[in-house]
Amino acid sequence: MRKFLIAGNWKMNAAPDAAYKLAEEIASGWKDNTFSSEALLCPPYISIPAVAEAFKGTAFKVGAQNVHTENDGAYTGEISTGMLKVAGCEYVIVGHSERREYFHETDELVAQKAKKVIDDGLIPIVCVGEVLSQRKEGIHQDVVQRQVDAVLNHLGKDESDNLVIAYEPVWAIGTGETATPEQAQEIHQFIRELITRHWGSESSEKVRILYGGSMKPDNAEELLSQKDVDGGLIGGASMKAESYNEILKISETI
Ligand code: PEP
Repeated sequence: MRKFLIAGNWKMNAAPDAAYKLAEEIASGWKDNTFSSEALLCPPYISIPAVAEAFKGTAFKVGAQNVHTENDGAYTGEISTGMLKVAGCEYVIVGHSERREYFHETDELVAQKAKKVIDDGLIPIVCVGEVLSQRKEGIHQDVVQRQVDAVLNHLGKDESDNLVIAYEPVWAIGTGETATPEQAQEIHQFIRELITRHWGSESSEKVRILYGGSMKPDNAEELLSQKDVDGGLIGGASMKAESYNEILKISETI
């Protein structure tokens, strides 16, 4: 049985009370607490303590959706890795396409965040992926290569165990449109090869590569069955306990 990372991104949804309820509902679907995949939910910052509380005594983990590169100081509105650790986070999503698009995060900044997260003992989930026009132009591999190289240039091969990359074709996020399993595998394999070029094959096998973009119970099995798909980053379907748990259950059968 493969060990997947099944990560949920709640984006700017679920205030602490609603987040606590949803987390409890998800965890209560696993009374015996036994699954071999790693299960992670990333609520908005303010709801992290509530979700951590709801997950106490379970195997579910909590993560954040973003972080700043400094430890503390005059950065109004920002949150540091140290604060996230105290709140119970183990993972941080970095460079989600919504942050790249709406908050102008560059490859360089995303790479700095990934480095900071790893240096401080958390695991970054670095999002990469092309927009529709880039896929239509046939330059999707160039775009993904630029985004992945930027991060790998800041890290060393010893950090491969603690790096997660999420391939999220932007045209598939929140649209209901999903990459075909073949499209996903092609890019996942391409990312694996890029890592091999930087760090060799032993290290590249250790990096987990998630697929994100309208993953749901209907398509999870065929996507997770691809050789280089090591899990999912799930938006909409992670907002309902039933569909998140269904995907987690599917991951247990592969
Ligand atoms: C995401 O936001 O990372 C995502 C994959 O969203 P959705 O599953 O809703 O497409």
